[in-house]
Amino acid sequence: MINVLISDLHLEENNPATADIFKKFLRDCTSNAAALYILGDFFEAWIGDDDLTSFNRMIIDALSQATKTGLPIYFTHGNRDFLIGKKFLRMTGCQLLPDEFVANIFGTPTLLMHGDTLCTEDIKYLKFRKKSRSWLFKTFIQFYSLKKRRAIAQRYREASKIHTSSAPEYIMDVTQTEVEQVMRKHHVLHMIHGHTHRPAVHHFKMDGQDATRTVLGAWHEHGNALICEANGRQRLITLK
Ligand code: MN
Repeated sequence: MINVLISDLHLEENNPATADIFKKFLRDCTSNAAALYILGDFFEAWIGDDDLTSFNRMIIDALSQATKTGLPIYFTHGNRDFLIGKKFLRMTGCQLLPDEFVANIFGTPTLLMHGDTLCTEDIKYLKFRKKSRSWLFKTFIQFYSLKKRRAIAQRYREASKIHTSSAPEYIMDVTQTEVEQVMRKHHVLHMIHGHTHRPAVHHFKMDGQDATRTVLGAWHEHGNALICEANGRQRLITLK
């Protein structure tokens, strides 16, 4: 058996090829995986559980079919789909994890998170995050029409594109001190996250012990997944 982790699919109607890769991948998971973890930015933008376009329904159906076969699917919020709520979870059978969650991956405690909060140099984004995750924002946003929410999301996406293309490289990556701080807080030596779109396995020493930080890749040109085997082996694979 294997545990499978993915993130940053950025699923959207305009990119049906990625959705097709995901659906095929999900079918493989139902026959081979003990659990699937989706670590945020599953959707390019999620403006509320009431946005049931035919594309969104198709994805929800695929997830629901997979969980009905008995595959546990765990979700963490990304910066683009943090409005995924109870209704989505009910419709799909997925389970929401807290922003920082220590999973037992075949006996190894492993910290799972989206990764946006590790990029502490990105002050501008962290300010937006604080505002948008407040109960005030979440309360008000649900009273806006879908049309209005779609327009707001579009504006944020454009601003984000300009920001990520103009900010220096190091600002868009994680800060090592923050990585170690959050790992210490949870008493773990292993972490898996997405968000930066820089797939890699980083090995480092923390308090004299061997630690790893595995970064999942985005699904822009092809799919990316991390396969964790029961013997402790980890493989980053690409999917077509
Ligand atoms: Mn992200």
